[in-house]
Formats: sequence, C-alpha cells, structure tokens
Amino acid sequence: MAKSFNTVIIGGGCLGCACAFSISRKLGRQPNKVAVIEKQVLGAGLSSRHSAIVRSANASVMAARMAKNAVQEWKALSTLWGVDIPFEQPGAIWIANSHKTNGTSQWQQLKNSMQNEGITFQMIARKEVTDLCNDAIRVDPDEIYFHEPDVLQLDSSEILNGLQNAAKVNQVEIMEHCQVFDFERDNQGNIIALLTNQGKIVCENVVNAMGGWSPDLFAAIGIQIPVALEPVFAANFLVSSQEIPGALPIIADFVNRAYFRRWRGSILHMHQPRSRSGNAIARCFSKAMMNPDGANVIYDASSFSVNHQQLEHYLKKLEQRFPKLGKAVYAGGYQSFFDITPDLKFILGKDNAVANLFHCLGAGQALKYAPVFGELIAEMVTKGTTRYPDIDISEFSLARFYDKPISEFWETSTDNRDSL
Ligand SMILES: Cc1cc2nc3c(=O)[nH]c(=O)nc-3n(C[C@H](O)[C@H](O)[C@H](O)COP(=O)(O)OP(=O)(O)OC[C@H]3O[C@@H](n4cnc5c(N)ncnc54)[C@H](O)[C@@H]3O)c2cc1C
Repeated sequence: MAKSFNTVIIGGGCLGCACAFSISRKLGRQPNKVAVIEKQVLGAGLSSRHSAIVRSANASVMAARMAKNAVQEWKALSTLWGVDIPFEQPGAIWIANSHKTNGTSQWQQLKNSMQNEGITFQMIARKEVTDLCNDAIRVDPDEIYFHEPDVLQLDSSEILNGLQNAAKVNQVEIMEHCQVFDFERDNQGNIIALLTNQGKIVCENVVNAMGGWSPDLFAAIGIQIPVALEPVFAANFLVSSQEIPGALPIIADFVNRAYFRRWRGSILHMHQPRSRSGNAIARCFSKAMMNPDGANVIYDASSFSVNHQQLEHYLKKLEQRFPKLGKAVYAGGYQSFFDITPDLKFILGKDNAVANLFHCLGAGQALKYAPVFGELIAEMVTKGTTRYPDIDISEFSLARFYDKPISEFWETSTDNRDSL
C-alpha cells in the first residue's frame, strides 16, 4: 500500500528539513505525518557546501528582518527544532571601496536601514579594524569598513548532524535515495501523490525545497521556476594562529570580491560572493542550456578538484588582504553553485496555481534563514498563528515572475550589498 502523509517535503537540504521540523512540531510531533524525500542523502546538495555564516545585513529590509529573527532562532534552536547546534559569534567586518561611484552612499543607506531595523551595523575606523583582526589584514585609506557584531559562525558538519538528530526528535520520516519524478493530481489540479523510485507517496500538502533542481521537476506540470546556477569555487588554506588569529571576524571583502573566515583550528576558508550585476545574472540563465546535468553537477566526484587558474585567482585575493601570509598553503576545495533567481531574492510561499503546493527556495544565501523559513512555511501549511507578525513575504512570491518578462529583472540589478 502507498505510504501516506499530511505533508511531504521534496528535498532534504537545510530548508526542506527546517520546513519539516516546524510543520511536524505544529502537528504535534506524531509519526507518519511529515516526510522528507531526498534523492541522495540529507544535505547532499548545497546544504553541505556552504560556509555556515548566519548574519543579518541585507539590502532588502524584509530579508534583513527575517535574518535578524533567524540569528536569534539559531541561538536557541531547541525551541523550534528540539535540538541545539553549536555556534560561535565572531562578528563580521564588511569592506567596501569608498571611490566606487555611489559606493559610499549605497553603504551608508544600508547602514541606516539596518539601524532602523535594530541591527547593529556600524562604520568603524581603520584602527578598530586592525585591532579586531589583530593586525592580520591590510587596511587602505580608499576603503570603508562596517562592523556587524551579531554574526554567527556554525560548522556545516555540525549542522548536518543536527538535522539528522532533529528529524528523530520531530518524528519526521526521512526517505533517502528516493527521487520524485512526477505528480498525480486531482480535478482541481491539486497534488494528491508523488511518484518516486520507491513507489507512490500520497499526501495532502507538498513543499518544494529542491533548490537548484526545482525547475526540472516542476516544468513537467507547467510550473516555471526561474532558478539558474552560478558556479562558485570554495577553497581552504592552512594558516597558523600567529599569522591569522583564530578569533578573526568574518571578512566580507567587497573590494577583492571574497569572503574569508577562520574555522576548524587551522583553516582560512574563502569563496567569492554571488554576482550582483544584471549581465552576470542573465548569463547564468543562458548557460542552463549548456549544462544538461543541471544541479546534478554537484554530485560529480570531479567537483572536489580545482584547476590552477582558479587557485591562482584566489591566492591573489588572499595575498591582497592578508599580506603576512605570503603564498598560502592550499588545503583542499570544491566547486559548487549558487542557486540564483533573476532578482536574487528567495521564492517563498504558496503556489498561485496549485493550492496545496508551497515553495521554499533560497536564492543562493539561505542556510541562515532556515529556522525562520521553516516556521513561515509551517504557518501556511497548518494555517496556524504567526510567530513573526511583522514579516510579510509577498515580495518573495513565485507569482512575481509571471507579472513581467524575466529579462526586466536583471536590467535593474546592479547593487552588490546583499551577496553571500
Ligand atoms: C560556496 C557557498 C557558500 C555559502 N555560504 C553560505 C553561508 O555562509 N550562509 C548561508 O546562509 N548560505 C550560504 N550559502 C547558500 C546555502 O548553501 C544554500 O542557500 C542552502 O544550502 C540551500 O539549501 P536548500 O535546502 O534550499 O537546497 P539544497 O541543500 O541544495 O537541497 C535540495 C535537495 O533536493 C534534493 N533533490 C533534488 N531533486 C530531487 C528529487 N527529484 N527528489 C528528491 N530530492 C531531490 C537534492 O538532492 C538536494 O539535497 C552558500 C552557498 C555556497 C555555494
């Protein structure tokens, strides 16, 4: 007989799990109510390829508000998920070029809007940067610096461990190596069952948390989900605590276009941010045709190797910002992608055509929001009361892409403040 659940979540990444835990908690944490279907294993997608930073500053006020709530939820996670996940609070320093046209005013605006939201994000002097970083980074009179102290650093393997434990606590059934390949629908178009390689799964509600894989599956039932893949390379370098202090704040370096963080004792981890220029976003969408494997490229063993050109490119950025380091010792890396939307905003909420379908997609920067997104989707699915009365997710609806041609989204997008 087919298995049957109140809600099935497709995709076992951090967002799918977060939705499952919150929905299950709201339904009383009973067995056979909520299932996560994952075609590989939990966290096999982007959720094992991130830098585990949780911070709030964002050009979208609503995204910043959600992130501010998320920082607090991560700190006391057992309230929502029944488990805690360890974290550190190194804070972050944002570095911008003061000479770039409009650069300074954009950053000042960001500072003001964050202050209105009660998020500490303040301009600091070069001396303060030097002190916070124990003299490890280069500072320059052409640069401006902002400090965001309430920024958390988690560890991706601790998060994956936490997801597995929380699945048990919340009585969520995890179906791994189970791939959804089609849907069964009723006369009104609602989804009544998922067709998978492990048989039919009957359900009352479906949450799409497939990230970069979403367009593929939903195209078959006429739902267009504009998500493209922007390639990115992440690298680890071996450093000593004499060169770079273990307690280095996270460095969000928009001059060299790189994020740096210290973790696991001896590692300096880095990757580049998402591109914010409209042209670059458009190019990612055009490349989809040239990548027949789509998001599956992430499973390929070769994605754990990097070429010399990429490495040289990163080493230069490293030398620029950490002059004491000299030529750093490469200690492994991987290729990954950001699952981006045309306006780099999330896709959240109810589908406008299929009444029992909900979307929860992250636009390349979503781990940090996971507890809040999970709660918001759970409130919609269970029609429960809201934990965040001042959050309005209408700007993140999938329907926004149906109102105008997709190309119009990237014509306007040149801002670079909210990448991660
Ligand atoms: C280099 C890098 C650094 C990052 N750093 C940060 C950071 O510091 N902070 C932050 O907040 N975010 C960061 N991100 C972004 C973050 O990793 C993602 O936003 C987040 O992991 C997305 O999670 P997800 O659950 O939406 O997707 P995924 O983890 O990709 O999950 C989707 C899942 O769906 C499964 N799936 C696909 N198709 C099917 C199917 N047909 N049937 C069943 N299952 C299916 C996949 O196997 C996959 O496991 C970073 C991203 C990158 C690339």
